[in-house]
Amino acid sequence: MAVPRPLTFENLNNFPGLVHGVFSRAGGYSKGPFLGLNVGLSTGDDPDIVNRNRIRMLSSLDLPRVLFLNQVHGTDIAVIKSEKDAAGAVFKGQGTAPSKIFKADAAVTNLKNLGLVIQVADCQAVILYDPEKEVIANVHAGWRGSVADIIGRCIDTMVTQFGCTPATIRAGISPSLGPCCAQFINYEHEISRALWQYKEKDRPYFDFWQISRDQLGAQGVLDEHIETMGLCTRCHTDLFYSFRANKVTGRFAAVIALKT
Ligand SMILES: [Zn+2]
Repeated sequence: MAVPRPLTFENLNNFPGLVHGVFSRAGGYSKGPFLGLNVGLSTGDDPDIVNRNRIRMLSSLDLPRVLFLNQVHGTDIAVIKSEKDAAGAVFKGQGTAPSKIFKADAAVTNLKNLGLVIQVADCQAVILYDPEKEVIANVHAGWRGSVADIIGRCIDTMVTQFGCTPATIRAGISPSLGPCCAQFINYEHEISRALWQYKEKDRPYFDFWQISRDQLGAQGVLDEHIETMGLCTRCHTDLFYSFRANKVTGRFAAVIALKT
């Protein structure tokens, strides 16, 4: 089996001490509708196999530990400033299941050798890095997160809790539901009016990639520091899990970590 090799963002590749990547389905143990590197435990897949996939993910990035979140499409952000904050919540591999899990849709840390994981299957993972303050974040932004501006809230947390400057922050937007497939028939009830400008003129299709870019920009992140992979998950189910394409499916992972 091929060793999982994550996709990376060009604008994050040349920072020594930074490790990141978005894992495709390639190189995992899961079978059937979960085929590949499924890291989602609440998908219906065999938990032992998911754990083996998670361990493969860790070893391919040469990371000792990562933090998974209980993602609930909310606005809570896990702020990890000390080893005490992280204690009990980290996944290190076999035999050391975390005793707690943060119910949150973003995580921010300045700790070294701790990967932040976001699991997605159409939603965006938005990874953030401030190279001056050496602070990283990972955000889960589905449509509910876009409506609630979880991205803006996370940048604000980086600024207020860690002293980051938005103009230095780099951002990468993972493969996710593209403007080709982001159809919201009930948008009048689901999507706030402020975001209707991102809808196609004659069809209820939205450009969530541009929404995220603009939400980052509104916080002061420079446009040239934002990179979108531009791959639609629903159009590329050979590469990624897509909830819209297949209701029973896995989750792929986006990871960022500071290494010593
Ligand atoms: Zn598409």
